[in-house]
Amino acid sequence: MKLVTYQEGGETTVGAAIEGLVVDLNRAYAALHRKQGCSEAPSLANANLPREMTRFLARGPDAVDAAHRALEYVAGLDADHAADARLTRPGAQVRLLPPVPYPPKIVCVARNYAEHAHEAGLELPTLPILFPRFPVTLVAPGAPVVRPTVSMELDWEGELAVVIGRGGRHITKEAALEHVAGYSIFNDVTVRDYQFRVTQYTAGKNFSASGPFGPTLTLKDEIPDPHDLEITTEVNGTQMQHGHTGDMIFDIPTLIEHISEFIDLEPGDVIPTGTPAGVGFKRKPPRFLQPGDVVRVSVTGLGVLENPVVAEEETADDGSRATATHAT
Ligand code: MG
Repeated sequence: MKLVTYQEGGETTVGAAIEGLVVDLNRAYAALHRKQGCSEAPSLANANLPREMTRFLARGPDAVDAAHRALEYVAGLDADHAADARLTRPGAQVRLLPPVPYPPKIVCVARNYAEHAHEAGLELPTLPILFPRFPVTLVAPGAPVVRPTVSMELDWEGELAVVIGRGGRHITKEAALEHVAGYSIFNDVTVRDYQFRVTQYTAGKNFSASGPFGPTLTLKDEIPDPHDLEITTEVNGTQMQHGHTGDMIFDIPTLIEHISEFIDLEPGDVIPTGTPAGVGFKRKPPRFLQPGDVVRVSVTGLGVLENPVVAEEETADDGSRATATHAT
């Protein structure tokens, strides 16, 4: 199942993306129970299929089971009836948000592919190098990445993102994948001069509107081996990165074990797992993202995350953000 978070009529909700449609899981679950004569169908739906993704994920397999029942119900309906009842919407008409719009934590991994470390002229790490990203930097699928006024050095980093389902502390490698809800795509867009002019990454990795994430959260049962996926990044249709998740220096269980040594992982936490070779700043000549560019990251089985680039000067000056990711 591919989960999305989307906005409709000022309401934000969790849906499932299926065959060009988005199914409103909460509404479908309520309709199913109403049909069965339940007088409290809406509150049952709110309890079992919350509209907010971190709460949905916190319910674990129960929510996934309920979602499957809701989808089976919709599949048995006449398509026009399902659309009229607002149980489905054409995917193209839906305004997606990042699949987890407000992750409790975004813990990024630096230098997790040897070829990327080599191209950057950096040594291979002996422990995972981690840095946080603030959730407010997230960019919705299709929304613009903003090139800031203070730097021309905006660079792409296509990555596989792990989304935590079941939280925990001191999670062992052996148990780690049981704590994963699923996978998504992250573009860890970086302002290089801000990254390298000091010894840590906070500014360079946390510019406003620099973290495309999505388009869906693909639940892990659809991805039998997350270390057998191809990552491709294109700018304006030209391939810039092509890597394989099997080449990670620290694999996903190792990352989860390491991170949960020092902090509780929570449902909805996101771990972008590092980028393969082919970033812009070490190309000859360097290639940075410009206003008008379109950057597109794809990962096997997870879809495509595509975002245009705009200049900060072009964005609204009334305090609203070009991404409008968190507009309501
Ligand atoms: Mg990165």
